[in-house]
Amino acid sequence: MSERDVMHYDAVIVGAGPAGLACAIRLRQLEPQRTVCVLEKAASIGAHTLSGAILDPIALDALWPEWRARPPAICVPVRRDQFRYLTPRRAVTLPIPPQQRNHGNFIVSLGQLMVQLASYAESLGVDVFPSFAASEALYDAAGAVAGVQLGDLGRKRDGSPKPGFALGVEVRAPITFIAEGCRGSLAKQLIARYGLATRSTPQTYGLGFKELWQLPPGRTRPGLVQHTVGWPLDPHTYGGGFVYHLEHDQLYVGLVVGLDYADPRLAPFEAFQQFKQHSSVRALLEGGEPLAYGARSIAAGGWQALPRLAMPGAVLLGDAAGTLNVARLKGVHQAMRSGMLAAEHLHAGGETEGFDAAWRASAGGRELWRVRNIKPGFAHGLWAGLANGVFETLTHGHSPWTLATHDDAESLERLDQYPSPERHWVARTLPPRDRTAAVYLASTAHDEDQPVHLKVLDTALCAERCSVEFGNPCTRFCPAGVYEMVNDDSGARRLQINAANCVHCKACDIKDPYQIIDWTVPEGGSGPHYQDL
Ligand SMILES: Cc1cc2nc3c(=O)[nH]c(=O)nc-3n(C[C@H](O)[C@H](O)[C@H](O)COP(=O)(O)OP(=O)(O)OC[C@H]3O[C@@H](n4cnc5c(N)ncnc54)[C@H](O)[C@@H]3O)c2cc1C
Ligand code: SF4
Repeated sequence: MSERDVMHYDAVIVGAGPAGLACAIRLRQLEPQRTVCVLEKAASIGAHTLSGAILDPIALDALWPEWRARPPAICVPVRRDQFRYLTPRRAVTLPIPPQQRNHGNFIVSLGQLMVQLASYAESLGVDVFPSFAASEALYDAAGAVAGVQLGDLGRKRDGSPKPGFALGVEVRAPITFIAEGCRGSLAKQLIARYGLATRSTPQTYGLGFKELWQLPPGRTRPGLVQHTVGWPLDPHTYGGGFVYHLEHDQLYVGLVVGLDYADPRLAPFEAFQQFKQHSSVRALLEGGEPLAYGARSIAAGGWQALPRLAMPGAVLLGDAAGTLNVARLKGVHQAMRSGMLAAEHLHAGGETEGFDAAWRASAGGRELWRVRNIKPGFAHGLWAGLANGVFETLTHGHSPWTLATHDDAESLERLDQYPSPERHWVARTLPPRDRTAAVYLASTAHDEDQPVHLKVLDTALCAERCSVEFGNPCTRFCPAGVYEMVNDDSGARRLQINAANCVHCKACDIKDPYQIIDWTVPEGGSGPHYQDL
């Protein structure tokens, strides 16, 4: 391609996750003559996809019923649920909340499922482009979104072009679907530009960690789904663990930590590793081997944090909007529903502006409304949150109030104002030993000669103010050890950014208490190469 190449489509979709691919497929199912492309920043489809994932098949069955005849390699019907409260030494079985009942659902590798959905989309005539990272929206003369600009495929660290690469490629279309997943960088730009969040409360997030393990024979019970609350998190930190038993002696293990935590000393990666050390989990893992590691943020704000989903020329889909049902920890079917609904809305002649109301009135919107008060109820601690959850479940969300969500960047307390609780964390014995070793299991890679995609607006603040007030929490909440405080040649402290390690989880963009970190898209094809997550 030459400089300033322009590609034209009837619809451009940013992000080959469940939302984007469901939208593309539905568009072509309804109108085979409409030209549709899907842009994906990962080097291959599914390589940036990280999810549990317990799949509620309701949307996939409606979109592509044949999937059951060709399931992904990792696809295990759920046979049993278990819900437990962990103390440092014990595991107490609790009644299973209705939201956590998974009868009829499947444990899948979402990455593998995306590969299959993308090839189905291609069979319908969709152009799917991996390694295409959309960096900015384009606008027409009337101010409507008119497509996207791709991040330069090969600019050097000093800003000069690399020979043989395309610069400034534009993909233009009358409608753009933003399906970037949680904390999308285009979504962030567009929400600010069109004031889409002025009537919602702040989006709030979780940070999810996950590993795939190969275990000694005979230890797993395929189809068993285990969820936990409690240790290693304290009662004032939202989150929980999961263990999903696969076939062939494999197992998914993970922990989600609410990014509304207050403790500036909390290290979420360490919390995940501690979860693995609990006797009930360690007994499964000991003698096994981790095959893959990853981390990704989750949009957990639900109904009241939903921005307006439509603007002139574009709509927000899936986690980029915040359609995930956090009470169920399920966003895949919701993301697919939003993508399908957007396609159907467009096909029926609807204006982009009408999509917001259409989503809120749809089955996906109603699902979010019913659980809207469950997550905010945990602001008062684990037990108050569980009790409130029971009430909200019994009343089907008909309580006459809607609890507000709050900005995660503002929830962190200063070091001198927050006495961290005793966590009873233990010496670790299981791999990976640290974040560097973990990142190796994410196979993440960024060309060292590309511009740093993590823009820290004022690094002096890190050394002078943040170190005193919060102790540089980015060095703890980043799951890939990207941020380090080091001594420079004169012995002064400075921030070092190991951008090549980034796994694109977006936690730094969300949780930095001064909001001076801006995650921008790196060169297409950079980032993790998740296998089977
Ligand atoms: C640890 C964890 C556990 C979870 N467990 C479950 C579960 O058990 N069940 C469930 O249903 N849900 C679960 N979820 C949530 C679920 O994964 C998401 O709700 C769902 O994947 C959202 O789909 P999406 O298409 O909106 O976004 P994503 O799946 O995030 O896909 C977005 C895609 O867009 C790409 N992209 C982003 N920006 C750009 C750009 N600028 N240019 C090009 N490409 C871009 C990304 O690389 C990605 O491939 C879990 C999530 C996590 C993190
Ligand atoms: S640098 Fe930011 S986006 Fe990248 S892994 Fe660390 S916290 Fe996540």
